[in-house]
Amino acid sequence: MKYTDLLNITKEFGNPVYVYDAGKIKSQFNRLTNAFKTVKNLKLNYAAKALSNLTILRLMNDLGSGLDTVSIQEVKLGLLAGFKPESIIFTPNGVSLEEIEEAAALGVRINIDNLSILEQFGSTHPDIPVCIRINPHVMAGGNSNISVGHIDSKFGVSIHQIPHLLRIVELTKMKINGIHMHTGSDILDIDVFLYASEILFETAKNFRELEFIDFGSGFKVPYKDGDIETNIEELGEKLSSRFNEFCEEYGKDLTLAFEPGKFLVSEAGYFLAKVNVVKQTTSTVFASVDSGFNHLIRPMLYGANHQIFNISNPEGRERYYSVVGYICETDTFANNRRINEISEGDILCFKNAGAYCFTMASNYNSRYRPAEVLWYEGKSVLIRERESFDDLIRNQIDVKDLFAAKNQKASIK
Ligand SMILES: *Cc1c(COP(=O)(O)O)cnc(C)c1O
Repeated sequence: MKYTDLLNITKEFGNPVYVYDAGKIKSQFNRLTNAFKTVKNLKLNYAAKALSNLTILRLMNDLGSGLDTVSIQEVKLGLLAGFKPESIIFTPNGVSLEEIEEAAALGVRINIDNLSILEQFGSTHPDIPVCIRINPHVMAGGNSNISVGHIDSKFGVSIHQIPHLLRIVELTKMKINGIHMHTGSDILDIDVFLYASEILFETAKNFRELEFIDFGSGFKVPYKDGDIETNIEELGEKLSSRFNEFCEEYGKDLTLAFEPGKFLVSEAGYFLAKVNVVKQTTSTVFASVDSGFNHLIRPMLYGANHQIFNISNPEGRERYYSVVGYICETDTFANNRRINEISEGDILCFKNAGAYCFTMASNYNSRYRPAEVLWYEGKSVLIRERESFDDLIRNQIDVKDLFAAKNQKASIK
């Protein structure tokens, strides 16, 4: 997207505002699909939690994506956005049996990640097929280390519990239609990922009625030029050929599934905020924007390094700034960043603002959550209104009489 397009969006819809480039989402979707073109049945299930605006979900559906959901509410959003139930997979962690039953009743695919719920669900619904989330205890160690240290993770059924898992399946006569893993760590070393995949294949051999194997996600995207990222093409080539080999061995063309969130939407997103104050202190120059961790928490929550550009003065000379928010707590977006000279009123653009940005926004300091705009075929489309004061008080019950009565008594005395 061009800076002028972004600036026009702030003129039309105000600031702060999130902007998503539909073209970038589509090209990422196609890139991933293309990397696995030799696999007969590929299914990408977009991870809704990354960015769950209804229109974004509709765009994903339109591209041919399925949907990966982690709460019954995300399941309902997916259905509302037009996904067929069978295109939605429910992959929760630590939710109640009732929530899983509610999702199953809506007809979506179920992914279970612990033996207790598996046994309960299998005992009462042996006819509803389920997928099982496995924890292969493999973690990318940065280089070529293969670490099995992920033993403390709360996610998935440990591969050391396969005998118990098989006993439950046999006793309940439940059907297992998929095997899944999502380690949550970035795929940087493809051989480590392939090693984990072998564990999945090995586990899969225990089940005769599989329809798919789901490799989760973990695709790392670049945040700036020169950043390391997952080599999708290499992963596609290596995993595809191994997967096809496995299908032959298994005797059936299974579906290879992924659940990308960040990969599809991170780079498509821009967050635009206005500089309220430029403040020179003894140690630095602060640029305070009309936002904070109430709108974009990733830098403060896990040190995410979002690039920041001054799109109001892109040719200006560069200076060092600390970019901070207006929240009454420390909310530093960036320290010692070289940014084109900032004047009060300039619009700063935060990159990689598509994934886990708006969806993590809150009303802290009683501020409104921003508007969201989709950039689609050269036009800006408002896909979420900025909140208003009514939104802040919507569910509050203002019990006016509660204290009035007490004060009255006191005055009678
Ligand atoms: C969050 C999540 C994803 C998406 O992860 P990304 O790193 O955003 O691609 C996929 N699968 C599951 C089960 C998740 O919880």
